[in-house]
Amino acid sequence: MKDDVRDDNLKDEMKDINIEDTEKKDKEDYETVCYICRRPESKAGKMMRIPNNICICSDCMQKTFDTINSNGMPYMDLMGFPANMMNMNNVQKEVPKSQKLKKKKEETEEAGAKTLDIRNIPSPHIIKGKLDDFVVGQEHAKKVLSVAVYNHYKRVATDTMDDIEIEKSNMLMIGPTGSGKTFLVKTLAKLLDVPLAITDATSLTEAGYIGDDVESVLSKLLAAADNDVEKAERGIIFIDEIDKIAKKKNTNNRDVSGESVQQGLLKLLEGSEVEVPVGATSKNAMVPLTTVNTKNILFICGGAFPDLDAIIKARLNKQSSIGFSADLKDKYDDDPNLLLKVAVEDLREFGMIPEFLGRLPIIYSLEGLTKDMLIKILMEPRNAILKQYQKLLALDEVRLEFDRSAMEAIAEKALEKKTGARALRAIIEEFMLDIMYEIPKDINIGKVTITRDYIEKKGVPQIEMRGSHYNNTLLEESV
Ligand code: ADP
Repeated sequence: MKDDVRDDNLKDEMKDINIEDTEKKDKEDYETVCYICRRPESKAGKMMRIPNNICICSDCMQKTFDTINSNGMPYMDLMGFPANMMNMNNVQKEVPKSQKLKKKKEETEEAGAKTLDIRNIPSPHIIKGKLDDFVVGQEHAKKVLSVAVYNHYKRVATDTMDDIEIEKSNMLMIGPTGSGKTFLVKTLAKLLDVPLAITDATSLTEAGYIGDDVESVLSKLLAAADNDVEKAERGIIFIDEIDKIAKKKNTNNRDVSGESVQQGLLKLLEGSEVEVPVGATSKNAMVPLTTVNTKNILFICGGAFPDLDAIIKARLNKQSSIGFSADLKDKYDDDPNLLLKVAVEDLREFGMIPEFLGRLPIIYSLEGLTKDMLIKILMEPRNAILKQYQKLLALDEVRLEFDRSAMEAIAEKALEKKTGARALRAIIEEFMLDIMYEIPKDINIGKVTITRDYIEKKGVPQIEMRGSHYNNTLLEESV
């Protein structure tokens, strides 16, 4: 008996839910029609709803108001309503969110102090310690970066120190592709909780030419800061592929994507007030503009600078070939870290203009990744790629292990590709596919060990069943 009553209640509830659902669906599928002109919402525009569920389009509403106005309503004036009250143009239209600016908070000082208070800026060794959790090797780069960032935000927090203005610590980061330039900056921005914009210098051109203006980098930062100007003004802008805007040699044409872009970036790097379009990357009549001050924005430029090593080598050879201490000519031929010896004059020779280099006072290089570093990248960082796979299989209660020799084989393969750590993921994904496909087939598998033979496609991984040490060749067919 009781159960019957409960069933009835349940049915009623289900009915209510169904009615709600159909009403919601109706709203999506059907559109309202104007009560006066009978045009649907798609043609007549947004409808106004008046009591008794009557909808009227704004045109008909305006006509009604006009009629009332022209016929004269003497008591309207007497009642003290303004004459233009019944004008539909005065009705405020909704502005799209992408073009709205976030209101400044009233207690701005307190909000800013939260992240940038001088007492709260972590000291360089703490910043470096945090970077160590994610980025393998690159000790020199991490040290320089931590100190520069510490000084930069200390300067931002205090503004000036005894009238001695501290200069901006914009940076130029040189390193082969896949050595972690972008990764380092991304990790840093996340740790400091500041907005970060990453742009590619190749897409920039001089204002007025096809391509993005240099100011577009600020629009990106503003978007990353949720259109909050104050937040954007203490963010980080990373300009990648900066070597691609080197001055073109032996050209008579106007260099709109090289030297001119360097010239255009000068005022941003130095610190100035720039008009930036909100919600778009180019200025036009339809988008609102706002002013962003770049004084406290940290600019980090990065590039691989191919052939820079030849320039450095030529300079070093020239220096050491004079006098009694003359060295052998091929002394620097096999030096893998020649980039670490970079000097401003080498970059000038490469095609960067002196004014541009002058605004990037901190110049440092990242090392090319070695086999040992690649092996560490596989296993050590907090979200290392092998750890991710181990976690995935652990969810199926399977232990995944890698032989030292297997990791060496992966690193050797990656080195051959010459794309730094970027090659690792592709290699691993290739051989993990079979494992991830086959293992869930048999719930008795307890442990899988990846060997060098498997990576080199000469053998199979070692499989151990749950509660035994017996080897199985389940994956033999798949290899
Ligand atoms: P680039 O120097 O060309 O900007 P990236 O920073 O994009 O190279 O590196 C590509 C990927 O390689 C990163 O997403 C990161 O996962 C990995 N990686 C590169 N260098 C390191 C490193 N030193 N430590 C940890 N991971 C790294």
